[in-house]
Amino acid sequence: CGIVGVLGNHEVAPILVEALRRLEYRGYDSAGIATVNGGTLDRRRAVGKLVNLSDLLVHEPLAGKSGIGHTRWATHGAPSTKNAHPHRAGPVAVVHNGIIENYRELREELAQHGCQFATETDTETVALLTEHYIKQGMNHVQAAEKTLSRLEGAFALAFLFEGEDDLMVAARKGSPLAIGHGDGEMFVGSDAIALAPMTNRITYLEEGDRAILTRQGADIYNEAGTLVNRELRTIQVDA
Ligand code: GLU
Repeated sequence: CGIVGVLGNHEVAPILVEALRRLEYRGYDSAGIATVNGGTLDRRRAVGKLVNLSDLLVHEPLAGKSGIGHTRWATHGAPSTKNAHPHRAGPVAVVHNGIIENYRELREELAQHGCQFATETDTETVALLTEHYIKQGMNHVQAAEKTLSRLEGAFALAFLFEGEDDLMVAARKGSPLAIGHGDGEMFVGSDAIALAPMTNRITYLEEGDRAILTRQGADIYNEAGTLVNRELRTIQVDA
């Protein structure tokens, strides 16, 4: 129900948890984060309140300056640790708001390729499909783009990849997503309120947009695949 992403210059786990706290007003049943640390992708997830996730992080810390986070409002699959986001398949971690309407068809297709499913969620198909395209030889960005072209439904998504400390892919179709601009840092969030402690310089993705982010900035493409300019606004929100 809430998404955050950070390519930052500080330890990202506490920043992600704080940003998720700012999205709590939307409601949620579980939460999780993933980070890339020196190329290594890892994640922590917990059912219930965010304090359960922060307690887990005390005992099992997650280092790294790049990360994604999620608060989940379950639509497909019970609220449980294994169904909580980020979902992971091989080198890919994904957080998702909304519903992938054609996930059953995608699951069947993936099952024919021998994919195993660890969850009952619609979201897991996004991670598995991206991994599938990487195995076919696509690079991480190409694989995410190809996956996005296959998805039907309403979603906001953020992707993080093993071996990539300076790359995030984000996309919006039916669920809002904001890009935040820092100084040598970049952010994504379900809304500007989540990003307020980090930046007030915001670009809103439009319907069908996807963004390829590094710490230097974001390249935004529309649904037709054309590189587009979206307005950078300085907004007033209480940090
Ligand atoms: N449909 C996804 C799930 O049930 C995402 C739900 C959400 O927006 O939090 O896991």
